[in-house]
Amino acid sequence: MNWLRNFMIGRYGTDSLSLFLLVLSIIITFVTSIFGGNLITLLISYAMWGWVIFRTLSRNIAARSKENEVFLTGWRWVMDHTVGFRGWVKTEGNRFRDRKTHKYFRCPTCHQMVRVPKNKGKVRIICPKCKNEFIRSTGKSAAQKAKEEQQRAEKAAQKAAKKAEKTGKH
Ligand SMILES: [Zn+2]
Repeated sequence: MNWLRNFMIGRYGTDSLSLFLLVLSIIITFVTSIFGGNLITLLISYAMWGWVIFRTLSRNIAARSKENEVFLTGWRWVMDHTVGFRGWVKTEGNRFRDRKTHKYFRCPTCHQMVRVPKNKGKVRIICPKCKNEFIRSTGKSAAQKAKEEQQRAEKAAQKAAKKAEKTGKH
C-alpha cells in the first residue's frame, strides 16, 4: 500500500463531512430502492460520491478543512436542537423492545417516563424523579391468568356436559 500512501501525500483525505456524505448517500439509495428506485436520487447519490472523492483527493487542504468546520458547526446545531426529539425516539424504541416484559407510564406530576415490569396486576409506582406516587394497572399476573384459564375450562366442561345431557335425551 506504499503507492497509496505516496499518492495521498499532500492530499486532504477523509473527514467527518465525507463520512456523513457517504452514509447519507447509502441511506438515500437504500430508501429509494425500497420504493423501486429513482433517477434523481440516484444522481444525487452519485454526486455525493463524486464530491467525497474530490474532497479526499483535493490538495487544497485549507478549503476542505473550512468546509468540514462549517459542516461540524451545522451538525452541532442540529444535535442541540433535536435533543427532545431524539430522546423521544429512544424512549419509543425501548418501549417497543420491552413491549413483552415492561410497561411504560408517564408520571402525572413531572411527566417523567417510568418503566415497570408487566403483568404484575395493579401496582403503586414511585416516580424516580419527583417521588410522586401513582397506581397503574400493569396487566394480569400469571397466577391471575391461570385462575381465569381454569374458570374458563370449568365453564367449557359444564357446557359440554349440559350438551351431552341434552343430546342424550333425544
Ligand atoms: Zn414524577
